Amino acid sequence: MAVSERKHWKHLYEEVISTEICCGCSACIVACPHKVLELQDFDPIQTDPNSPFDNCVHGEEGCSLCAMACLRLDPKVDVIEELIYGRRRQVDEIYGKYFYKTLVRATEKGMLEVGQDGGAVSALLGWALEEGELDGAVVAGPSESVPWLDEPRVVTTKEELLAAAGSRYTYCATPLGLKKAAEKKLKNVAIVGVSCESTAVRNLAAEGIKRWTRPVKLVIGLMCTETFDYDAFVVGKLQGEMGLNLDDIVKINVKGNVIITMRDGREIILPLKHARPTANEWCHHCPDFSAEHADLSCGGLGMEGWTLVMVRTEKGRDFLERGVAAGIVELRDADEEPNALRVLEKLATKQRTRAKPWDPHATAAYPTQQALDAAYEYEAEKAAEKAAAKATKVAEAQALRAK
Ligand SMILES: Cc1cc2nc3c(=O)[nH]c(=O)nc-3n(C[C@H](O)[C@H](O)[C@H](O)COP(=O)(O)OP(=O)(O)OC[C@H]3O[C@@H](n4cnc5c(N)ncnc54)[C@H](O)[C@@H]3O)c2cc1C
Ligand code: SF4
Ligand code: SF4
Ligand code: SF4
Repeated sequence: MAVSERKHWKHLYEEVISTEICCGCSACIVACPHKVLELQDFDPIQTDPNSPFDNCVHGEEGCSLCAMACLRLDPKVDVIEELIYGRRRQVDEIYGKYFYKTLVRATEKGMLEVGQDGGAVSALLGWALEEGELDGAVVAGPSESVPWLDEPRVVTTKEELLAAAGSRYTYCATPLGLKKAAEKKLKNVAIVGVSCESTAVRNLAAEGIKRWTRPVKLVIGLMCTETFDYDAFVVGKLQGEMGLNLDDIVKINVKGNVIITMRDGREIILPLKHARPTANEWCHHCPDFSAEHADLSCGGLGMEGWTLVMVRTEKGRDFLERGVAAGIVELRDADEEPNALRVLEKLATKQRTRAKPWDPHATAAYPTQQALDAAYEYEAEKAAEKAAAKATKVAEAQALRAK
C-alpha cells in the first residue's frame, strides 16, 4: 500500500471513534510516537494544536501507528492467533482455543477475602512478584479521589497488588499502564484487562509495535459482557436513584443481578436489566466474552468463591501449574460446576453476534469467509423481514383509514 493509502488517525476517527465502536482501550495512544493523543472520557482525542480533531499532520506524512494498533480497525486476528496458539480459531470454538478449563481458588485467606471470585488472579500475580519472576503487574486500581472509578496502575509489590484486587465494573484502560511500566524500566510484567484489552495488547505485538509489549510476559484476561458508564451507573444509578453512599460500598459483583455489598454487611440487589441501559455503547459491538487472546482467561460465571480459568497458552499453563505446585492456588474440576459452563457457553455464543459483518473488526467475530458471508446473508434476511413487517403495517393502517 502506498504511503498516502495507509490508514492513520483520520480513518481511525471516521471508522471507529465517530461510529462509537471504540472501546477506549488506549492502544492507539500507547502506539502514537508523536504523543499527540490522549484519552478523554474514554475517547482518544488529538491534543496537538497543529492537528484538527479528525485528522493528523503526521498521519498525512505517513505515520499510521494509531490505526495499526487499533483492535477495532482491521485487527490482525490471524497473526494474533497464529502467534499465541499456532492457528486461527475455528467457527465452532465459540470461546476461543484453550488447553483446558479449571476452577481455581487462592489458598491464602486474605487473598480470598479481597478477590472478586476465587482471588486466583491476585494470588498468582502476588506470588510471581514475591518470587521475582515478575518485576511489575499492570492492573486497574481504584482511584484515590473518585469512588468506584479505576485508573491504570503499575504495581511492584504484593501489598500494592492487593489494594487493586476485586472488580470494578466501569472501564479502565489498563494498556495505558504499559507506558508507566516502561517509564519504570520494568522488564517482566503481567497485564490484567477485560477481553478487549487482552486483544489490544496482542494486536500491538502482532503489528510489530513491540516497544511497549516486549516486557509483557503474561496476559491475564477477564471475561466480560459489558462495562458501565461511570456517570450513568455509579453517579446516576447507584448514588442518584438508589441513594447509596459510594464510600459505604465495599463490593459490587454481577451474578445474574448486580449485587452491591455495603460496609454494614447489607446486600442490595439491582436487577441487571435496570443496570444494562447504563452500559457503554461500545460494548454492544464487542464479539468476545471470554478474553480469547489472553494466556489465562478468568471469570466468575455466577459462582461463589471460585474463579473459572481457561488455560490457553503454554505460558499460561506453566504459570498456573507452578502456582498450584507452590500451594498458592488450589484447583477443582470445571465439570463440577455445570451451571457455570452453561453460562460461559451462552454468554460467549450471544456475544459473537454483537459485531456485524460490515464492522471494521468483523474478522474477530467471523473467522472464515464462509462465516462472514453467512452473517451477511442472515443480516440481509433480517432486514428484509423487518421491511416486510413494516410494509404490512403501513398497508393495514391505510386499509383502516380507507374504511
Ligand atoms: C469490568 C468487568 C466485567 C466482568 N464481567 C464478567 C462477566 O460478565 N462474567 C464473568 O464471569 N466474569 C466477569 N468479570 C471477571 C470477574 O469479575 C473477575 O475479575 C474474575 O473472575 C477474576 O476473579 P479473581 O477473584 O480471580 O480476581 P482478583 O484476584 O479479584 O483480581 C481481579 C483483577 O482485576 C483487575 N480489575 C478490576 N477491575 C478492573 C477493570 N474495570 N478493568 C480491568 N481490570 C480490572 C484488578 O486490578 C485485579 O488485578 C468481569 C471483570 C471486570 C473487571
Ligand atoms: S497518525 Fe501517527 S502521530 Fe498521528 S495520531 Fe496516529 S500515531 Fe499519532
Ligand atoms: S485503539 Fe482502542 S482507544 Fe484507540 S481507537 Fe481503537 S478501540 Fe479506541
Ligand atoms: S464488553 Fe467487550 S468492549 Fe465492553 S468492556 Fe467488555 S471486553 Fe471491552
